[in-house]
Amino acid sequence: MLKVSSKAISTFSLLIFSAITIGWLIDHMAYTLVLVLFVWSVIQIHQMHKLNIWLAQELVIDPPEANGEWGEVFDHLYRIRKLRRTRESELLDEIDRFQQFSAALKDAVVILDHQYNMQWWNRAGEELLGLKNQSDQDMPLFNILRDPNFIRYCHSGDYSEPLLQKSPHNPSIELQYTITEFGESEKLLVARDISDLTRLEQTRQDFVANASHELRTPLTVIRGYLETFLDQGNLPSALQKAMLQMQQQSDRMQSLIVDLLMLSRLDSTEVVVDISPVNVSGMIMVALESAELAVEGKKHNISVDLAENIGLIGKEKELHSAFTNLMYNALRYTQDGGSINIKWHCDDAGGCFSITDNGPGISSIHLDRITERFYRVDDDRSTESGGSGLGLAIVKNVVNRHQGRLDVNSHLGHGSTFSCYFPLDILVEL
Ligand code: ADP
Repeated sequence: MLKVSSKAISTFSLLIFSAITIGWLIDHMAYTLVLVLFVWSVIQIHQMHKLNIWLAQELVIDPPEANGEWGEVFDHLYRIRKLRRTRESELLDEIDRFQQFSAALKDAVVILDHQYNMQWWNRAGEELLGLKNQSDQDMPLFNILRDPNFIRYCHSGDYSEPLLQKSPHNPSIELQYTITEFGESEKLLVARDISDLTRLEQTRQDFVANASHELRTPLTVIRGYLETFLDQGNLPSALQKAMLQMQQQSDRMQSLIVDLLMLSRLDSTEVVVDISPVNVSGMIMVALESAELAVEGKKHNISVDLAENIGLIGKEKELHSAFTNLMYNALRYTQDGGSINIKWHCDDAGGCFSITDNGPGISSIHLDRITERFYRVDDDRSTESGGSGLGLAIVKNVVNRHQGRLDVNSHLGHGSTFSCYFPLDILVEL
């Protein structure tokens, strides 16, 4: 660049020097100088005009002929324009490839700005969410997805769990929404069609519910006959022993069926219906009595600490089942003579039902999976105590349905604490 400028300066200086010399020789120095400068300016204006016309061309054609400095300027600009064109066409290829890829995506992808206005979406966005290319551009997402749950989910800022909802465009489509933040509070919304999965899950739930229901009647008959035979009392001792074992196993089957039916009922409705104020302390005392009856023969040191004037708005039957399961577990798994502490209290954060025992405890490797259906820490321990592996799954489900959270704190050999936390807004003063 510096080389070009110094060359131009020396050419210009030579021109002026020649004009001065010729002017001095013919004794018209001023006229010659003006004439030379005029001609030089005309040439510059002409070259600039040529440059202007050439730059205005859409296509990158060869530059006009020019000598000296102007030739170098044209060549330099030609190279820059050619490079820019190559980059432009590479970029267009990239955009084209991205559009093909986004159109092939089965999931709806929507890019939102920090105010949830829709900036861009792919073809599946039109099919699954009913977005229209022209009219919805830059419009708020909540004009399309108006469900209060969805709006709450977006504003919550916690996108660790996806949200399941029907498509606003076609209610027969079940969608799973996930949000990822990027850039300056911009968001990427992905909606996946999970209708097939939902149907499959529904079929599974129906099957479990129907099978459990159908098993109930034959089992009741078997249990009835077993009870009648055992009541007669004059059975040979070997038969008596076998019958007692059969009765024990049929009792286990019965409790398994009851738990399966309970879980099916919980699965079939997303939210708790028929809610009313529940006297938690009263319910805990009743549940404790039935749990104690179920593990008759064991003696524990049980202490109870209850905030009697605080209740919960919820479904009594479900809460009763959850709390009974926790008490039943504590009584079953804690050794004879062990201590159990039952507490119901409330503070600024909400209400908490907790049950602490000094039983065998649970190793930390099991804690993440302990609330899964049929998950057992130790098959021998559960079988011995007649467990179905469904109790904690029921507890977690019920607590979640009441907007609460189940927390398990346990150390092997030192006992366990199961705590159910409930939010303030479902607590009532009794
Ligand atoms: P189960 O019907 O087998 O008891 P749960 O879902 O109620 O099924 O419990 C799952 C497992 O958690 C049990 O198999 C048991 O090993 C363990 N468990 C539950 N409660 C306690 C407790 N209070 N102390 C020790 N282990 C427990």
